[in-house]
Amino acid sequence: MGGTCELTVDLDAINANLRLAARLAGGRTVLAAVKANAYGHGLVPVARSIEHSGSAQWLGVATVSEAVALRAAGITLPILKFTITLPDELPEALGADIVFTVGDEEAIDHLQRAASAVGIVAAVHLKIDTGMRRIGAHPADASRLARLIADSTSLELGGIYTHLPVSDTGDGDAFTRGQFAAIAAAARDVEAAVGPLEHVHAANSAAVLGHDLTGTSMVRPGIMVYGSYPDPSTPRAHALAPVLRWTSRVAFIKQVLAGETVGYGRDWTAPRDTWVATVNVGYGDGYSRLLSNRGHMLVDGTPRPVVGRVCMDQTMIDLGPEVPTVRVGDEAVLVGRSGEHEISVEDVAALMGSITYEVTCLITDRVHRRHVGGVSPSSTR
Ligand SMILES: *Cc1c(COP(=O)(O)O)cnc(C)c1O
Repeated sequence: MGGTCELTVDLDAINANLRLAARLAGGRTVLAAVKANAYGHGLVPVARSIEHSGSAQWLGVATVSEAVALRAAGITLPILKFTITLPDELPEALGADIVFTVGDEEAIDHLQRAASAVGIVAAVHLKIDTGMRRIGAHPADASRLARLIADSTSLELGGIYTHLPVSDTGDGDAFTRGQFAAIAAAARDVEAAVGPLEHVHAANSAAVLGHDLTGTSMVRPGIMVYGSYPDPSTPRAHALAPVLRWTSRVAFIKQVLAGETVGYGRDWTAPRDTWVATVNVGYGDGYSRLLSNRGHMLVDGTPRPVVGRVCMDQTMIDLGPEVPTVRVGDEAVLVGRSGEHEISVEDVAALMGSITYEVTCLITDRVHRRHVGGVSPSSTR
């Protein structure tokens, strides 16, 4: 079933972007980040298409419920959960057969007890903090914690990893190189203590696109999979396939006279007699209120500015002074191409003063997701 406000997700483009990541990663194992509803693109259809096409070997999630949803859908790829799992979440997480992230003795202890209580051997990747200061052990503690894990009969150490805060900007090159050196050194320490590690990893999309991955065996791209660059300053050295087209439709058209105002707060005053269309999309769909008086939509191949404040369910655009040829029911493109013009996720992010990640994550459940290409049911919420 379709909807007025619709997100079309090209699964072939997602798989092509993952194949590019694999090529740039020189045959390293590829983990596709599918957290946050696959960055808003639809968790299960995206994961299913990745699994069926073989474009990645692992999936990455942030919450237990994401892992549970993947297993309920029959996904069998290994799943790494990037975040720390709290004690009360452990029983359900153990049931979902995930690979756990731990970064201190406390997390190791909780997991060890929960796993032994149900007679499961839990797979673990040890997170090392080499500069992100979010989660992870100090590199000096890596071999001691690895030994704790290796010595537990309920735990199995599958790898170590770190995360990179500035791999997406030229300014961050030296810092990022230092982090790759630090994780490689931590891997040597750990291997000296407990034997060979299956996986050592650090690279997010930005590192896959522009860094030397020496010392690592796996990469964890996210945003590039969905066709966006991590930062406006990330070099566009490799073309990404566009994945997403976001549309809604014109629902009402009327003339507004010079001096009249449009919308809540009477924030926009018509400078001349003009025609204004109302489109069925608003911040309740994830079309950010920050786009009030700033965004634009493509209607009939022409960019039309948003006038007044974005409402929860409706947004007004200025069609100009001429009697419009636009009709009720016509498509309004929020992200994507129409005629000669294109609005990219990057364009919307810039207008919001945010990043591409947030633009697609904000798109809410009530926007109908239509998945095309790939190996997937044609339409799923
Ligand atoms: C989200 C995430 C990624 C993917 O990052 P991108 O910048 O989207 O490529 C990789 N690793 C971890 C730990 C993450 O949380």
